[in-house]
Amino acid sequence: MKLIDLHSHTTESDGTLTPEDLVHLASESNVSALAITDHDTFSGFNKARSAASTGGVELIQGIELNSRLHLQGSTRHRSVHLLAYFPNEAPGQAFLEWLEGQRTERRERNRKLAAALQERDIHVTLEEVEARGRTLAGRTHFAQILLEKGYVKTFEEAFTLYLGENAPTHVERQSQTAEQTIDRIRNGGGIPTVAHPVRLALPRDVERNELVRLKAAGLLALEVFHSDHSPELQVYYSDLARDLKLLPTGGSDFHGAVKRNIRLGSGIDGNLRVPYQFLERLRELASRS
Ligand code: AMP
Ligand code: MN
Ligand code: MN
Ligand code: MN
Repeated sequence: MKLIDLHSHTTESDGTLTPEDLVHLASESNVSALAITDHDTFSGFNKARSAASTGGVELIQGIELNSRLHLQGSTRHRSVHLLAYFPNEAPGQAFLEWLEGQRTERRERNRKLAAALQERDIHVTLEEVEARGRTLAGRTHFAQILLEKGYVKTFEEAFTLYLGENAPTHVERQSQTAEQTIDRIRNGGGIPTVAHPVRLALPRDVERNELVRLKAAGLLALEVFHSDHSPELQVYYSDLARDLKLLPTGGSDFHGAVKRNIRLGSGIDGNLRVPYQFLERLRELASRS
C-alpha cells in the first residue's frame, strides 16, 4: 500500500530536520506524499519544494495553527490545534497577512514566558530562545534550553514544571477562537482539520458535541490517525469522522530528535498507516470548496 504522512515539522518551526532533510527522509522511508505542517509558517514547505521534485515526493502545503475552543455551556476552554491543508492551490494573500499577526502574537507569548521564568530565577532570555527558533521560536526551544542549562532532567519535565498548561509559569497564547480560525482557513482556500483530537482530553459526548459545532462553523476534516492515537482510538475517530461527515486525515506529527520515538510515516512503533486515498479525497474536497 502507498503510504503518506500529512503532519510533520521542520527546523522552520520546532522540528529538528531541515526541510530538505525531511524530504530525503520521506524518500528513504517510502512516504510517497508528505504534508509539511509547521506551526504558523509556510517557510519550511517553500524551502522543501525543489528537494521534493528531485526526490519524487509529492509535497502538500499545510500549516498547524493554535486556537481557542470555548466549551459550550461552560466558562472553560481548551487549546485546539487546527491543521490547514492547501493541496491544490496556494493560500490567498489575505491569509498570508493574517499569519503575520499569528506570529506576532506568538512572539508576545514567548516574551511573557521568558519574563515569567526570569521572575522565578530561571535564566532563559527571549534572545536565546529566538536564536534557536529562528523564524519561529516556541516552547520546544524553551524546553531545549531548560534542559541544557540543567533546570530540568528531561524534555518532558520542562513541560510539566514550566511550560505546560498546568505549570505555574504557563503563559496562554492570545489565540483566536477555533471558529474564527476555521473561517480564515476556509477563506484562504484551505481545508480546516482538527489535529490530534485525543489531546482535547474531553469526555466522548462533549468532544462529539464540540466537533458538531465546529463542523457547523466550517470544519471539514478530522485527524483520525496520529502517533498519539492507540489502535482503538484510531477506529473510534474513523467512525466518528464518518458519522459527522468529516474527512479523515492522518500523520505522524514528526519533529525529529525532540520527539525521538516518532518515526516519519509510521508513527510510534509502527502504529500509523495513512492510506494514499486520504490525500485523493482531500484534493477532491479542496477542488469543490
Ligand atoms: P508552542 O507552539 O510554542 O506553544 O509549542 C507547542 C509545541 O510544544 C507542540 O507543538 C509540541 O511540539 C510541544 N509540546 C507541547 N506540550 C508538550 C509536552 N507535554 N511534552 C512535549 N512536547 C510538548
Ligand atoms: Mn510542535
Ligand atoms: Mn499540535
Ligand atoms: Mn504538530
